Amino acid sequence: MAVMLQVEDLAAYYGPTKVLHGISFALEEGGITTILGANGAGKTTTLRAVCGMVRASGHVTLAGEAISGLTTEAVARRGVAHVPEGRGTFTRLSTEENLRLGAISRRDHDAVEADLDRMYSYFPVLRERRLQQAGTLSGGEQQMLAIARALMLRPRLMLLDEPSFGLAPLIVREMFRILRRINEEERVSMLLVEQNAALALDLADTAYLLETGRVAMSGPAKEIVADEQVRRSYLGY
Ligand code: ATP
Repeated sequence: MAVMLQVEDLAAYYGPTKVLHGISFALEEGGITTILGANGAGKTTTLRAVCGMVRASGHVTLAGEAISGLTTEAVARRGVAHVPEGRGTFTRLSTEENLRLGAISRRDHDAVEADLDRMYSYFPVLRERRLQQAGTLSGGEQQMLAIARALMLRPRLMLLDEPSFGLAPLIVREMFRILRRINEEERVSMLLVEQNAALALDLADTAYLLETGRVAMSGPAKEIVADEQVRRSYLGY
């Protein structure tokens, strides 16, 4: 299968402080890769480095083309949609205005209308809330809006940062079911950062474990979930 994202020897810095120490990983086209790790391991920074939001070195390719060194906007134009921690929705705008903003760089206006409809079919609650200010949505609804808005870009790759953060277990399960469906139906590849290792390993096909900015373990999610140390440290059983 073709490789969607290839990351080689990626290092990242905040000022003089190096927080990623040359990590390498790959994500297959249509695949879901998860990055696990404790607080501060560098998961969020990895996503930021892929989309050009922090100072970084190393080599990153998207479907064979180099994207390292590009601006965040240029990376987005190549088809990488970032759903950041904290969601980043425009709180004063309505649900539907947020969704339309996700497609602002697209010229295929008819397809945008069809995509809006598709988003409402994935997330029916967003249709009910289409005229409501995003800032007044529940946490789960805002997370769904952030994911739907990212999809309006028609991305090839979605970077998801802690989509389960702060949400009730029932909502999280529902959201992960929808993510799986989107991955299957749209063939959009996903790079998922999660504290909730059990959920992430259930959704993903491949997993990497980060420890203080280095890859400590990697492999098929099925194997990682069976690992004794991962069970003890990250799954709690
Ligand atoms: P968390 O689950 O807590 O978000 P994480 O694995 O995503 O953890 P990062 O947010 O990538 O970790 O942080 C990696 C390291 O970089 C940490 O030591 C953190 O303190 C540091 N760091 C993160 N953001 C900044 C920043 N803006 N300025 C300076 N240091 C930062």
